[in-house]
Amino acid sequence: MNLHDYIRDIQDFPKPGIGFKDITPLLISPEATAFCLEKLSNSLQHQKIDKVIGVESRGFFFGILLAQKLNAGFIPVRKPKKLPFDTISASYELEYGTDTLEMHIDAIQPGDKILIHDDVLATGGTAKAVCELVEQLGGEIVQMNFLMELTFLNGRAKIAHMPIYAALTY
Ligand code: AMP
Repeated sequence: MNLHDYIRDIQDFPKPGIGFKDITPLLISPEATAFCLEKLSNSLQHQKIDKVIGVESRGFFFGILLAQKLNAGFIPVRKPKKLPFDTISASYELEYGTDTLEMHIDAIQPGDKILIHDDVLATGGTAKAVCELVEQLGGEIVQMNFLMELTFLNGRAKIAHMPIYAALTY
Protein backbone atom coordinates (compact mmCIF):
# COMPACT_ATOMS: atom_id res chain seq x y z
CA MET A 1 0.00 0.00 0.00
CA ASN A 2 1.29 3.47 -0.89
CA LEU A 3 0.27 5.83 1.90
CA HIS A 4 1.01 8.86 -0.29
CA ASP A 5 -2.19 7.97 -2.16
CA TYR A 6 -4.17 8.76 1.00
CA ILE A 7 -2.76 12.25 1.64
CA ARG A 8 -4.46 15.11 -0.20
CA ASP A 9 -2.55 18.31 -1.01
CA ILE A 10 -4.59 21.47 -0.53
CA GLN A 11 -2.84 24.53 -1.88
CA ASP A 12 -3.13 27.88 -0.05
CA PHE A 13 -4.82 26.46 3.05
CA PRO A 14 -5.21 27.89 5.66
CA LYS A 15 -3.19 30.80 4.21
CA PRO A 16 -1.76 31.69 0.79
CA GLY A 17 1.57 29.94 0.21
CA ILE A 18 0.87 26.94 2.49
CA GLY A 19 0.57 23.47 0.95
CA PHE A 20 -1.66 21.73 3.48
CA LYS A 21 -1.40 17.95 3.92
CA ASP A 22 -4.94 16.70 4.43
CA ILE A 23 -5.04 13.34 6.22
CA THR A 24 -8.84 12.84 6.06
CA PRO A 25 -8.59 10.44 3.04
CA LEU A 26 -6.32 8.28 5.23
CA LEU A 27 -8.67 8.45 8.22
CA ILE A 28 -11.70 7.50 6.14
CA SER A 29 -10.02 4.28 4.98
CA PRO A 30 -9.90 1.58 7.68
CA GLU A 31 -7.30 -0.36 5.65
CA ALA A 32 -4.96 2.63 5.26
CA THR A 33 -5.43 3.62 8.91
CA ALA A 34 -4.60 0.09 10.07
CA PHE A 35 -1.57 -0.07 7.74
CA CYS A 36 -0.29 3.27 9.01
CA LEU A 37 -0.84 2.33 12.67
CA GLU A 38 1.12 -0.87 12.09
CA LYS A 39 4.00 1.06 10.51
CA LEU A 40 4.13 3.56 13.37
CA SER A 41 4.00 0.92 16.11
CA ASN A 42 6.49 -1.43 14.36
CA SER A 43 9.01 1.41 14.27
CA LEU A 44 9.29 1.14 18.05
CA GLN A 45 10.72 -2.39 17.84
CA HIS A 46 9.06 -3.50 21.08
CA GLN A 47 10.51 -0.67 23.19
CA LYS A 48 8.34 -0.21 26.28
CA ILE A 49 6.09 2.87 26.26
CA ASP A 50 4.22 4.08 29.35
CA LYS A 51 2.43 7.04 27.76
CA VAL A 52 1.72 8.38 24.31
CA ILE A 53 1.38 12.13 23.81
CA GLY A 54 -0.91 13.37 21.03
CA VAL A 55 -0.55 16.98 19.94
CA GLU A 56 -3.73 19.01 19.36
CA SER A 57 -5.54 18.37 17.27
CA ARG A 58 -4.55 16.05 14.43
CA GLY A 59 -2.07 14.26 16.69
CA PHE A 60 -5.02 12.96 18.72
CA PHE A 61 -6.24 10.56 16.01
CA PHE A 62 -3.28 8.19 15.79
CA GLY A 63 -2.07 9.17 19.28
CA ILE A 64 -5.00 7.42 20.91
CA LEU A 65 -4.82 4.44 18.52
CA LEU A 66 -1.11 4.04 19.28
CA ALA A 67 -1.71 4.28 23.03
CA GLN A 68 -4.30 1.49 22.88
CA LYS A 69 -2.13 -0.69 20.66
CA LEU A 70 0.90 -0.24 22.93
CA ASN A 71 -1.15 -0.67 26.11
CA ALA A 72 -0.03 2.79 27.19
CA GLY A 73 -1.81 5.83 28.61
CA PHE A 74 -2.75 8.77 26.39
CA ILE A 75 -1.83 12.39 27.17
CA PRO A 76 -3.34 15.29 25.23
CA VAL A 77 -1.07 18.30 24.69
CA ARG A 78 -3.33 21.26 23.96
CA LYS A 79 -3.45 24.89 22.96
CA PRO A 80 -3.66 27.39 25.86
CA LYS A 81 -6.66 27.46 28.20
CA LYS A 82 -8.19 24.19 26.95
CA LEU A 83 -7.07 21.89 29.77
CA PRO A 84 -9.15 22.16 32.95
CA PHE A 85 -6.58 21.21 35.64
CA ASP A 86 -3.21 22.83 36.55
CA THR A 87 -0.83 22.94 33.59
CA ILE A 88 2.77 23.44 32.56
CA SER A 89 3.51 25.26 29.32
CA ALA A 90 6.15 25.69 26.63
CA SER A 91 6.28 28.36 23.94
CA TYR A 92 7.73 28.30 20.46
CA GLU A 93 8.40 30.79 17.70
CA LEU A 94 6.12 31.22 14.71
CA GLU A 95 6.85 33.25 11.60
CA TYR A 96 5.15 36.16 13.37
CA GLY A 97 5.05 35.94 17.17
CA THR A 98 4.92 32.89 19.42
CA ASP A 99 2.54 30.07 20.28
CA THR A 100 2.15 28.02 23.46
CA LEU A 101 1.27 24.41 24.26
CA GLU A 102 0.07 23.06 27.60
CA MET A 103 -0.04 19.73 29.44
CA HIS A 104 -1.51 18.75 32.81
CA ILE A 105 1.09 18.85 35.61
CA ASP A 106 0.27 15.30 36.73
CA ALA A 107 0.35 13.74 33.24
CA ILE A 108 3.89 12.35 33.53
CA GLN A 109 5.78 10.78 36.44
CA PRO A 110 9.60 11.04 36.45
CA GLY A 111 11.10 8.21 34.41
CA ASP A 112 7.95 7.52 32.37
CA LYS A 113 8.81 6.26 28.89
CA ILE A 114 7.13 8.60 26.43
CA LEU A 115 6.18 8.40 22.76
CA ILE A 116 5.31 11.76 21.18
CA HIS A 117 3.01 11.67 18.15
CA ASP A 118 1.83 14.35 15.73
CA ASP A 119 0.54 14.28 12.15
CA VAL A 120 3.16 16.49 10.48
CA LEU A 121 6.78 17.41 11.28
CA ALA A 122 7.21 20.76 9.50
CA THR A 123 9.58 23.39 10.98
CA GLY A 124 9.93 21.39 14.20
CA GLY A 125 8.81 24.22 16.51
CA THR A 126 5.83 22.28 17.84
CA ALA A 127 7.85 19.10 18.37
CA LYS A 128 10.58 20.98 20.26
CA ALA A 129 8.00 22.61 22.58
CA VAL A 130 6.46 19.19 23.35
CA CYS A 131 9.93 17.83 24.19
CA GLU A 132 10.35 20.69 26.65
CA LEU A 133 7.04 19.81 28.33
CA VAL A 134 8.12 16.19 28.77
CA GLU A 135 11.51 17.23 30.10
CA GLN A 136 9.94 19.64 32.62
CA LEU A 137 8.19 16.67 34.27
CA GLY A 138 11.16 14.29 34.02
CA GLY A 139 9.77 11.97 31.33
CA GLU A 140 12.07 9.98 29.06
CA ILE A 141 11.34 10.43 25.34
CA VAL A 142 11.69 7.07 23.58
CA GLN A 143 10.66 8.32 20.13
CA MET A 144 8.89 11.13 18.32
CA ASN A 145 6.77 9.79 15.51
CA PHE A 146 4.82 11.47 12.76
CA LEU A 147 2.54 10.44 9.92
CA MET A 148 4.75 12.52 7.66
CA GLU A 149 7.86 14.65 7.62
CA LEU A 150 8.23 17.67 5.31
CA THR A 151 11.98 17.19 4.91
CA PHE A 152 12.50 20.43 2.94
CA LEU A 153 11.65 22.40 6.12
CA ASN A 154 14.41 20.61 8.08
CA GLY A 155 12.40 20.37 11.31
CA ARG A 156 14.74 17.56 12.41
CA ALA A 157 17.45 20.12 13.08
CA LYS A 158 15.43 21.50 16.03
CA ILE A 159 15.08 18.05 17.64
CA ALA A 160 18.33 16.56 16.39
CA HIS A 161 19.04 14.71 19.64
CA MET A 162 15.75 12.75 19.41
CA PRO A 163 14.92 9.42 17.76
CA ILE A 164 12.49 10.41 15.00
CA TYR A 165 10.30 8.23 12.80
CA ALA A 166 7.95 9.32 10.01
CA ALA A 167 5.66 6.89 8.15
CA LEU A 168 5.89 9.12 5.04
CA THR A 169 8.31 11.75 3.79
CA TYR A 170 7.92 14.63 1.36
P1 AMP B 1 5.84 22.83 12.91
O1 AMP B 1 5.79 23.36 14.31
O2 AMP B 1 6.20 23.88 11.92
O3 AMP B 1 6.70 21.60 12.78
O4 AMP B 1 4.36 22.42 12.50
C1 AMP B 1 3.80 21.26 12.97
C2 AMP B 1 2.35 21.42 13.30
O5 AMP B 1 1.66 22.22 12.35
C3 AMP B 1 1.68 20.08 13.29
O6 AMP B 1 0.87 19.98 14.47
C4 AMP B 1 0.85 20.04 12.03
O7 AMP B 1 -0.45 19.58 12.31
C5 AMP B 1 0.80 21.47 11.53
N1 AMP B 1 1.29 21.60 10.15
C6 AMP B 1 2.40 22.27 9.76
N2 AMP B 1 2.54 22.26 8.43
C7 AMP B 1 1.49 21.56 7.95
C8 AMP B 1 1.06 21.19 6.62
N3 AMP B 1 1.76 21.54 5.53
N4 AMP B 1 -0.05 20.45 6.50
C9 AMP B 1 -0.76 20.09 7.60
N5 AMP B 1 -0.42 20.41 8.86
C10 AMP B 1 0.69 21.14 9.04
